[in-house]
Amino acid sequence: MRIGIVGGGITGLTAAYELAKRGHEVSLFESEPDLGGQAATFPVEGTRLEKFYHHIFTSDREMIALIEELGLAEEMRWLPSKVGIYYEGEIYDFVTPLNLLRFRPLGLLQRLRTGIVTLYLQQFANWRNLENVTALEWVRRNVGQQPYEVIFRPLLRGKFGQYADEISMAWLWSKFKHRVASRGPAMQRELLGYMEGSFQRLIDRLEERIGELGGEIYPGSPVKRVIIEGNRVTGLEIESTEGETPVEHRFPLVIATVPSFVFLEIVPDLPEAYVARLRQVEYLGAVCLVLLSKEPLSRIYWLNISDTDFPFVGAIEQTNLIPPEAYNGKHIVYLSNYLSRHDPHYHLPPQDLLTTYLPFLKKMNPAFNEAWVEELWLFRADAAQPIITCDYSERIPPLWTPVEGLYLANTSQIYPQDRGMNYSVRLGQRAAEIVERVEKGETL
Ligand SMILES: Cc1cc2nc3c(=O)[nH]c(=O)nc-3n(C[C@H](O)[C@H](O)[C@H](O)COP(=O)(O)OP(=O)(O)OC[C@H]3O[C@@H](n4cnc5c(N)ncnc54)[C@H](O)[C@@H]3O)c2cc1C
Repeated sequence: MRIGIVGGGITGLTAAYELAKRGHEVSLFESEPDLGGQAATFPVEGTRLEKFYHHIFTSDREMIALIEELGLAEEMRWLPSKVGIYYEGEIYDFVTPLNLLRFRPLGLLQRLRTGIVTLYLQQFANWRNLENVTALEWVRRNVGQQPYEVIFRPLLRGKFGQYADEISMAWLWSKFKHRVASRGPAMQRELLGYMEGSFQRLIDRLEERIGELGGEIYPGSPVKRVIIEGNRVTGLEIESTEGETPVEHRFPLVIATVPSFVFLEIVPDLPEAYVARLRQVEYLGAVCLVLLSKEPLSRIYWLNISDTDFPFVGAIEQTNLIPPEAYNGKHIVYLSNYLSRHDPHYHLPPQDLLTTYLPFLKKMNPAFNEAWVEELWLFRADAAQPIITCDYSERIPPLWTPVEGLYLANTSQIYPQDRGMNYSVRLGQRAAEIVERVEKGETL
């Protein structure tokens, strides 16, 4: 069957690959000149680097299996993570139980309590019981106000910005469960996975395999409109370059992997109730300022910022995971913030952001000097993070849409796990499987 896929991120590429393997004729349309979506990369110092920091966990089963299937296992590197918390002028290591025991911003009893509750959460299975309570309420009640402020809120702010206090405990539970599954015996260290030469290797290999299986990929081809006739999808209208009239491609089946607000822009005349359902899920955007520096900022890979006066919520120093030798001896730091795409700060140019961030970088490392920064890049992702508030499961949009032959698979359907490439792989595989079964006439 001829199948059109909208979006060349991990979900779209995986769905295209799976369907091509099953003998379907797939055509994938990506609006950007490069594939990869939120996992896309750019050139840095003779290699590639993700626009937004990326690693995987040892518990990311589907992603690891896909990497193996594509013959890329040899290119995976598993490296000990260095996670820390920046609190009132000091950087604290925060990986092992011992780090928690030594964490001075909390009293001894609070540290013990945090440890016990963390252990409890790792054993806890029925996340549905945590769905209708915010992490704020749950942690305050079971651990205390101070641990929430110092440890848990920074973690939530690092993903949900101003919405941190509204996030469901089910999401936080899943985060703990997932992170712990990625740790070794006695939780003494956590291993994080990264590909030699960046995850571009995976994107390229997917593109190559889809081509070998007869699929077609069109980067730089924004879908303007999904064509619907008599409540059945019949094709895609692609915006053409240089103001020519849009090009139509006919497909009896379409999988859209774009964020829900984009889906609503390209699909006309959807029923009101369905539109309202999609609008129930809101997204936060991510702003990432990437610094190429002569010197390191800190010794930590992933630093959650606990101080709320900071204008960024995380400092992720790539070269504290992958040594600087991979980047001609330079150091790479991502300064990340999660904001609404409607917030004026979201649109600030890179140099203005650096100027705002400078006094805070000096707080973190008094020796930090603007002259260290050799290059600066700014990347924004409009739909970086669906906002997972209480009872989210009731608002998840289904893969099925009210239009026959039209399916939607995007990050808003990933729950209770934190969205990530592993779950996009899983979603792409699931979409491919469901689409095939439904079109074969199976009732699911
Ligand atoms: C700051 C940040 C850090 C992250 N860190 C990690 C990490 O460490 N580990 C991890 O596993 N995951 C991480 N992720 C998440 C991961 O990148 C995403 O979950 C995953 O890449 C989402 O893939 P997707 O294909 O579902 O969506 P997207 O990547 O958003 O893909 C959708 C695609 O659709 C395209 N598109 C939009 N409109 C149109 C149109 N009209 N026509 C055609 N194409 C269109 C877009 O350009 C995009 O390429 C991170 C994400 C962000 C933002």
